[in-house]
Amino acid sequence: MIAQSLQNIHEQIRATCQKTGRNPAEVLFLAVSKGFPVDRVKLAIDAGHRDFGENYVQEFREKHKILSAEPVRWHFIGHLQSNKVKFLVGSTAMIHSVDSIRLAEEIQRQAMVRNCTVEVLVEVRTTDESTKTGVSPAEVVPLVRDIAGFDRVQVNGLMTIGPFVPNPEAARPCFRKLRELRDEIDALKLSNVTMRHLSMGMSGDFRIAIEEGSTIIRIGTAVFGTRPPRPGRE
Ligand SMILES: *Cc1c(COP(=O)(O)O)cnc(C)c1O
Repeated sequence: MIAQSLQNIHEQIRATCQKTGRNPAEVLFLAVSKGFPVDRVKLAIDAGHRDFGENYVQEFREKHKILSAEPVRWHFIGHLQSNKVKFLVGSTAMIHSVDSIRLAEEIQRQAMVRNCTVEVLVEVRTTDESTKTGVSPAEVVPLVRDIAGFDRVQVNGLMTIGPFVPNPEAARPCFRKLRELRDEIDALKLSNVTMRHLSMGMSGDFRIAIEEGSTIIRIGTAVFGTRPPRPGRE
């Protein structure tokens, strides 16, 4: 049951924060609803949940439309192509997956069209898995410096996806790496850049991520259950 799962995760967030001397209010819990139908999302909203993550632009648009009257903040966490940025600017609270200057440039363009600013995170590949998206650690500082030049794109931190392995401890060095990069960039005191957020930790490894300083955890299966297989391509 979704309400129970949400409560369960909040309890684990509290316990992990207590163990590490952190304030649970510093950890934003995104319910990742990709692959689940709108009625499941509605159950989570009715249980009081407000922050949701989606990975696919088309699916996000459908849910956003149907749930437009609901008090929900949407976060875009999936790989993003420049030509789809226009569908997100103005309807998402944050884009977690900026991994190129081209993408940031298009976000700037769309933000100008809509006369708004867009909060983004830079996605970093902290594992060797070639399937992973994001920029390499060596590319992060130059990319953040470049994005800082776009006045309507507000860099608010970094995002990463841990390794897909059964042992959550294997993710710890990746999360630690992200935190170190955050500290390094923070020390540069770039204008138009804050390093407020570390978006890291999923169903299997969010406790480790919180121990390593995560401020946004992205939880799908532990909230909604096993995801149905994705039909076709987007
Ligand atoms: C699917 C996904 C999640 C949630 O994963 P779970 O293992 O279901 O919790 C989090 N972050 C990203 C980027 C995802 O694609």
